[in-house]
Amino acid sequence: MSAEAGDIGVPLRHYIEHHPKVGVRFICQGCAQTTDRPMAEVVAGLKARGLGGEATGIRAIARLLTRPCARCGRIYWETRPAF
Ligand SMILES: [Zn+2]
Repeated sequence: MSAEAGDIGVPLRHYIEHHPKVGVRFICQGCAQTTDRPMAEVVAGLKARGLGGEATGIRAIARLLTRPCARCGRIYWETRPAF
């Protein structure tokens, strides 16, 4: 019952419906740089790029990111809800 490797996290739809003020926190695992963005903006971005949408899991967003960290240049993100 391991939920680690394949854990996509809670679908974004859940936050939009039940926690509308919650954003997405992008955390660089290389240098701990943190950025928060509105959930709706992240969902719109996923849809625009054909990568997902409301059904995408909060943790799965990190695997879709191709932009390097502005501070350390690595592409090593973790995503969490930003309460
Ligand atoms: Zn970094």
